[in-house]
Amino acid sequence: MSEVLSPTKTPKVGFVSLGCPKALTDSELILTQLSAEGYQTSKTFEGADLVIVNTCGFIDDAVKESLDTIGEALAGNGRVIVTGCLGARSAEGGGNLVRAMHPSVLAVTGPHATQEVMDAVHSHCPKPHDPFMDLVPGAFGEAGVKLTPRHYAYLKISEGCNHRCTFCIIPSMRGDLVSRPVGDVLKEARALFEGGVKELLVISQDTSAYGVDVKYRTGFWDGRPVKTRMLDLVQALGDLAAPHGAWVRLHYVYPYPSVDEVIALMATGHVLPYLDVPFQHSHPDVLKRMKRPASGEKNLERIERWRDACPELVVRSTFIAGFPGETEEEFQHLLDFVREAQIDRAGCFAYSAVDGAAANELPGMLPLELREERRARFMAVAEEVSTARLRRRVGATMQVLVDAAPGLGRKGGVGRSYADAPEIDGTVQLLPPEKISKTLKVGEFTRARIVGTQGHDLVALPV
Ligand code: SF4
Repeated sequence: MSEVLSPTKTPKVGFVSLGCPKALTDSELILTQLSAEGYQTSKTFEGADLVIVNTCGFIDDAVKESLDTIGEALAGNGRVIVTGCLGARSAEGGGNLVRAMHPSVLAVTGPHATQEVMDAVHSHCPKPHDPFMDLVPGAFGEAGVKLTPRHYAYLKISEGCNHRCTFCIIPSMRGDLVSRPVGDVLKEARALFEGGVKELLVISQDTSAYGVDVKYRTGFWDGRPVKTRMLDLVQALGDLAAPHGAWVRLHYVYPYPSVDEVIALMATGHVLPYLDVPFQHSHPDVLKRMKRPASGEKNLERIERWRDACPELVVRSTFIAGFPGETEEEFQHLLDFVREAQIDRAGCFAYSAVDGAAANELPGMLPLELREERRARFMAVAEEVSTARLRRRVGATMQVLVDAAPGLGRKGGVGRSYADAPEIDGTVQLLPPEKISKTLKVGEFTRARIVGTQGHDLVALPV
């Protein structure tokens, strides 16, 4: 049996967070709870009493990175709790994959399991008794510990997914859609804005499906009824952001007709005119083989209508090239779609088989070289479209949120416009301001005149 620590010294927990923004918000919940209970964090494996590794299991590289990190934590510390998507994966031939690879881990949970992780922490490293902290409910506020810079934050509105896309194993790891109560989501959003957040990034597996699981139940917020529904949530988030001059950005939205109403809120500037829509493909037959949500929608016409209603709209998307059975003609359809839909920001994966995905059984797996070649051809077209759209901004003045500005920006800095989500899109490279009195501060907005482009980035002069 493993050693249980005496509660007389302040226990320290090491934490490694891997994976997507959704995993990051799970990490934030666990760290918030650890802090609220008086645990300290350790920057090294060696200096910790135990280590928690929040893993990712989405693609093979992520699985390898997660398993390697668990191995490093075991070598450096020996007392390791594993949580996250990889924790929910089975090994070939049955049993838990993490336990099969690393039998000495103390505990393994799936994603979104703060309480189970805390139970495991308590049994291997009892919580310190703090008579004051124990009496203060919610001592760390509704917003909790954040792993993002102070000026932006992810807001997770639901967990899991009701779809069954054939290339994806998320539903098997995270389960069906569970929407957070709308009152809780808005409470967290308000705390984040009050805590200085200037950009709120709404995330989930399927933001447009928010509330489907609870039949769009009416919840309460500030004594008023609010429906658990994307449109009502977005309206309320825009209302909360306005007094702080903050941005609300929407990720993982599917092109359902209901999104049209959200575009109207973007056109009036209520929330950012930015939509992250993971199309994955354009050809109806490929979308059917992928079992994509909204695969019957006429996506090109829909985007055109969105752009008519909101000309500033920026569309980001991800795609898969070389899906099983993809013909050259189907692939050409995809290239035409990216050109015609004028996708502002596109990412593309060459299809790769994920353990446990239904698509592995589909006929017509393409050779790796062909999948990679199509990905490269796709990216060449996507970059052409993207850079042409960027060049159209030269001469405009835009609002830019400053992410970095050493020396108050005297030598310039780096920021983002409404068209750039952190980590995944480009940036605005800020030149030193001409006016000597003008300074740039991280987490604040500046106006900037776009003077050029540089790859995926804009170059701008703060004004
Ligand atoms: S919509 Fe499809 S790809 Fe996205 S999480 Fe659900 S099953 Fe996976």
